[in-house]
Amino acid sequence: MALDMSKMQAKLDKLNNKGSGEVSIFWRPDEGDQTIRIMCPEDGDPFKDFHFHYNVGNNRGFLCSKKNFGDDCPICDFASKLWREGVASNDDELKKQAKSLFSRQRFASPVLVRGEEAKGVKVWSYGKRAYETLIGYVLNPEYGDITDVDEGTDITLTYTLPKTPGAYPQTTLTPRRRTSPLCDDAVGDGDRCNELLESIPDFENLYERKSPSQIQAMLDEYLSDDVDAEMNSAESQKYGSGNSVDAAFARLTSGGKSYPEADLPF
Ligand SMILES: [Zn+2]
Repeated sequence: MALDMSKMQAKLDKLNNKGSGEVSIFWRPDEGDQTIRIMCPEDGDPFKDFHFHYNVGNNRGFLCSKKNFGDDCPICDFASKLWREGVASNDDELKKQAKSLFSRQRFASPVLVRGEEAKGVKVWSYGKRAYETLIGYVLNPEYGDITDVDEGTDITLTYTLPKTPGAYPQTTLTPRRRTSPLCDDAVGDGDRCNELLESIPDFENLYERKSPSQIQAMLDEYLSDDVDAEMNSAESQKYGSGNSVDAAFARLTSGGKSYPEADLPF
């Protein structure tokens, strides 16, 4: 068997931190101003929405199997149970914990970042307020199709980091006054444009899809961590055995630790 030189080259590229495998497709704004051009995928919808769960242990945000795919979602079920209990017992702390586990809607669009065109098409993920602003622009005849290859509109994105702990960053979106082509050669042969348009990623497979049983396992692990932590205290005897979900639930309803606020992953 001969060496596969392309694989060896890939290893070298990886060591040198080059190669496509090492470059994230996701783009995050820096603090301050930057200019982006939202691009339209073939299906005609550049504003994709997803529902994520956060705050489940040390896991990154992941897709809710119920809201995205119509399957069962153990996290949704558990959070609803917590919420109902919080309402029934008028326990604000419990309701806050439930809220931290509820799914959150996030949006994503393919973008070309001005000044970084050579890096290709990136995925920008954003929240509901930015989404509403963008839909407002495309439905406003003053702007219309901001993604148009020849006569679309770049957008200045101003990203402001929060000044107080627990607050969210702010994203302000201002369309450029003049329209512009997507790329320099758009009014010409458009090869580069076509190349870019064809490289828009498949949003269906952008985020890993976890099955309900995988999500259940994450929930179990998260809850058993709670129980393990509790083992160090005298109270643990009450909840030390039996179903881990019920045990952790009992512990939570007894007024336990507070969960961190949502940490946006992108
Ligand atoms: Zn869910």
